[in-house]
Amino acid sequence: MDNVITCFPTVTEAAEGGIISGLFAGETNMVGERYFSRKLGKVMHYKLNASPEMDLSPKAKERIIDTIVGDSISMGRLIKTSHEEVYDLLAKSYGKVDSLKMISRIIETISKVVYSKRPRLLFFTISSDTISHMYGRNSDEVQAFIKEVGRNFPRLINSLDDVFGKGQYLVFLFSDHGITNVRNHLDLPSLLLDYGFKPASTDVIASEESNAAALSNGRRMGLLYFAHPERG
Ligand SMILES: [Zn+2]
Repeated sequence: MDNVITCFPTVTEAAEGGIISGLFAGETNMVGERYFSRKLGKVMHYKLNASPEMDLSPKAKERIIDTIVGDSISMGRLIKTSHEEVYDLLAKSYGKVDSLKMISRIIETISKVVYSKRPRLLFFTISSDTISHMYGRNSDEVQAFIKEVGRNFPRLINSLDDVFGKGQYLVFLFSDHGITNVRNHLDLPSLLLDYGFKPASTDVIASEESNAAALSNGRRMGLLYFAHPERG
């Protein structure tokens, strides 16, 4: 593998922000899946109450790949900046109960999109995120998942060959965030409590007043937010 650049912090939002803009997390503003909003005084979560495309920095917005290409189709993206999106309810439901079936379904749907729409950019995700978090990176479940992607991927390549012609298109593969098995990690909210702060709950629906927030970003690191004594 050549020219591989790691993205830090290793969370999906930071990775996808980097992929679509070529910028690092600090430049795109996508530094985690959760952040503490000083204005609202609560924890915001990109899968629930916050919108990554709203929070993307103006600098990143100007140069995202979807804008440059102008005619992009996406499926399963977190940052919804493409021209058109494909929703596949069956793939989604397989994702919840049977991730292996999800793989063939996504490849099938995406291959159909290649034939019917001939997109200039097709950006889709097949995620082993849930099983990696649940079973660990070296688990049989993750190995089976990767094998199944390998088994199904040629089908997409065949569709691209048919529609665009052999060698007339480019395929880029990106990974999501890294993962490692850990037994112990720092409990940042408890630490803040010990030091007399009132940290915001990491639950999204939290109403109690807080003056600090600690968000774990993949267990190995955390983001700490403090209110300025005078300026808030
Ligand atoms: Zn993850």
